Order: sequence, then structure tokens, then C-alpha cells
Amino acid sequence: MDASPCPLDSEFHDQITALLASPSPQEVQEYYNELIQKEKWHSIKIEINKEHGKGVFSNRNFQEEELIFKDQMLVASQHSYNKVDCFVCSSCFRFIGSVELQIGRKLYLSGFSSKDECDHGSFSGDNAASSSSDFQNEDDLCTQENKNNAGKNSWRKSSLSKEVLELLMSGNLSLPHSKLFVLPSIVPCPGGCEEEHYCSKPCAEYDWESVHSLLCTGKGSDSLRQAAVVRFIEHANGTNDIFILAAKVISFTILRYRRLKQPGFEGSKKPILHISKNEYNLSLLLEAWKPVAMGFKRRWWDCIALPADVDSCEETSFRNSIRDLAFSSLQLLKEAIFDIEFAPLFSLEIYGHIIGMFELNNLGLVVASPVEDYFIYVDDLPSPNKEETEKLTRPFLDELYDDYSVCCEGTAFFPLQSCMNHSCCPNAKAFKREEDRDGRAVIIATRPISVGEEITISYIDEELPYEERQNLLADYGFKCSCPKCRKEQPSV
Ligand SMILES: [Zn+2]
Ligand SMILES: [Zn+2]
Ligand SMILES: [Zn+2]
Repeated sequence: MDASPCPLDSEFHDQITALLASPSPQEVQEYYNELIQKEKWHSIKIEINKEHGKGVFSNRNFQEEELIFKDQMLVASQHSYNKVDCFVCSSCFRFIGSVELQIGRKLYLSGFSSKDECDHGSFSGDNAASSSSDFQNEDDLCTQENKNNAGKNSWRKSSLSKEVLELLMSGNLSLPHSKLFVLPSIVPCPGGCEEEHYCSKPCAEYDWESVHSLLCTGKGSDSLRQAAVVRFIEHANGTNDIFILAAKVISFTILRYRRLKQPGFEGSKKPILHISKNEYNLSLLLEAWKPVAMGFKRRWWDCIALPADVDSCEETSFRNSIRDLAFSSLQLLKEAIFDIEFAPLFSLEIYGHIIGMFELNNLGLVVASPVEDYFIYVDDLPSPNKEETEKLTRPFLDELYDDYSVCCEGTAFFPLQSCMNHSCCPNAKAFKREEDRDGRAVIIATRPISVGEEITISYIDEELPYEERQNLLADYGFKCSCPKCRKEQPSV
């Protein structure tokens, strides 16, 4: 590959090496013991061995279908394309507002194809206080859409009028039985941006303090930075929204550093000795970075699987182009939030490794939709109640068509789940039950597990033939030698 285009890579070489060094087994053990203690999942433990690195082990017997643990994400982001479909808390990813709002907003946002129509000034008029801010972010979505629909200017939905959808969104039109599907009411971003919304004040505050305050485009932030953040986000939405997640990791680290730096911070066990204002403190940065350091990572452009349509002789130029794309994104991010105190975090080397961490861990965030539950409930009603109800709900269901059941989807870094090793005959799976209505990962036993056994999940479809499984797992960087693979391995 060509030399790195990022001057910070060489300038901060030593700091970058320290940030990317694998933490010692002792550090890893301490970190996870603390995390498990904090989350109170005493029935599991993390063990480290030379061969497989980290693994999750059981501390007691589990029965089939039993909950093993839930994992709170460190940073997470809803996919950009999913934002029209699902209106969720930006911190815990619960659906918010109401079933009516979810349906109305989705049909409303997907119903427009021009910027003029997006100028919905009248909408924020005299509706409930929260609603005026709830729909502003559609401006972005419409701007995005506009690029593809320049010149068109029409309300595309045929059977439903804009007015009906507006009534639905503002809470002035209720659907029958929707009270059985109450969702948390909407809490706006404390910084006043229209991008992020929350299910509760604690969620809003947590996200603000841990990630969002640096990336907020609300009135509280200065306008130059605001515009730069918007440019960064637009670039990510137009190319790969994994960049937004990487920006969140950098923001998370900077904000954690600032909290650690405050004297008397409860989480800082070791006293931090006199740090002058601009003095660059590597040990503090390493401490702030620790949760991210625990994740297995490689450079994105090195670990990304070569797409099927790229010839192997084109591989180098493909990987160069991926790196250039990451660098363009990083430049935009730097214009937005660069701070010399954290310069190594803004190197391409670090940026590439953060993105690669998500690529390798490949942890999907999924939350089932209450809209789907609602329509299933209506469908299950006894006659004639069902027919009566459907007179009102049918037009919406018809308009939603297959999309009524779209889940909230995103990517997240789950610290505990990312320690779980793969097996093609796993004893656990990531699975959302009826009651799991937020973004946390939920790990369930698929067969009885006894004390001391390693808890494994499958990263791939384990029903595939041996060769296909090994090919897919090679993208994760290992050759599987689980009992099933050992049995099926062709003898040499
Ligand atoms: Zn929440
Ligand atoms: Zn904000
Ligand atoms: Zn296997």
C-alpha cells in the first residue's frame, strides 16, 4: 500500500502504538471483573487463555432457554437508512412517542419526494409541545432524498392524505386499542439539536455526557463546528454510516478523559498528579481509551473482506481506496471536533482500527417494533371487533405493506458479547425475547450449560457446509476447530 496520507500517523507514532497495544491479561481480567461486578451478572466470568484470548464462561448451571446475561452497549448507532422506519431513543433504542407517531411519521417521511414538501412549517404550529421538534430532522432525510429526486415535487402517497398523517403524528388522531402499546414520551436533546431524541431524562443525560455533547448540532454549539459536524454526517450517510459510530467512539474517549481528569471523579481510583492545562497526558488518555482497547481490532482496509466483484489483482487499489475514503471522513471529523490534546485519536491509524473493530465484531443492534405487535394484535382480535377495528387500521397497514414490521437496526459495540468465542455447535445465542425492548444484547442458553463450561455463540449460519463455514470465519480472522468442525474436517 502507499504511505499513509495522514501526517499524525508518524507524528504521534509512539502514542498510537501505546493505544493499539493489546492490554495485558491482567488488565483485561481486571477490566471485565469490574464490568461484571457493575452490571451484576455474577453467573458469568471472563477467562483469558493463550490460545483463544478472551472467553465467557459460566459460573453456574443454566437450563435451555434461560437468560445468561444482557449486555449494555458502549457506543451504538442506528443505521441511517433505518431512521425513517423507526423513531427510537438515541441512547437505549427503545421506540418512543406512540404507535400512531411511528406509523404516521414513517408514512409521512417516505411520502415526500421534494424539498418544498419538506418545508413543513405549518406542522410545528399549535400541536403538543414536543411535536414541533420531533420532525425537524426529516429535513435532513428529505435533503438526502432530494439529491435523487431533484425536480419532483409531489405527495406520493395515494390513499392517505398528508393531513391524516399529520393528525396521527400530532396525537390528534388515535387508532383503536393503541393504548395497549404505550411508548415512552419523547425527551428532546439537552443541546437543542433535532437529530437525537430520548425515552427519558436519564437516557438523554447519559448520552449527552458520554458521547453526544461533542457531536451535537444544537444551538448551544458554535455555528462553525455545527456546520462541520453536519458535513461529516452527510458524508457518512452518503458513503458508510460506520463512520458515525467511529466518531462516537472518539467522542466517548475524549469525554471520558475529561471526566477522569476532574479531581475527585469517583471512577478514578489512581490519583492523577498535577496535570497542567495543555500538558499531554498519555496515561490518562490510555485510561480513557481502555474500554475501546479491550475490543479486538485491525485496520479497516486490511480486514475488510474483498467484495466478490473485485478481482484479486485489484486488491491493493481496492484497499487503498477504502483507506482514502476513511481519510476523507476523518478530515471532515477533524474540522468538526479536532482538539490538539487528543491529537493521536485523530490519526488515520486509530480511526482505521476503530472502524475495523466494528467490522470484525460485526455486532448488530436489533429492537423489535411495537407497530408490528400492534397489527398482530388487531389481526388476532375476535370478530366482529376485528372487522370494526380494521376499518380504521387497514388503510395504514395497506400503505405500510411489508414495512409494518421493520425493526430498529444499527451497529453497536457490546463489551461482554464481543468476548464470546464462536462455535459451530454453540450453547447460546443472541436472542431478543418478548420483553426485551431496548438495544441491549440478550444472550440465551440454547441447551443446558454446566458450571465452568465456555459459553459460545455462532458468528455465522452454523448449518452451512464445512468449507463455507471456514470461508466465512476466515473473514473474522480465524480457523474454527470446534467439535463440529473437527468431526467434519476432511482428512488430509
Ligand atoms: Zn432511552
Ligand atoms: Zn443534540
Ligand atoms: Zn466450527
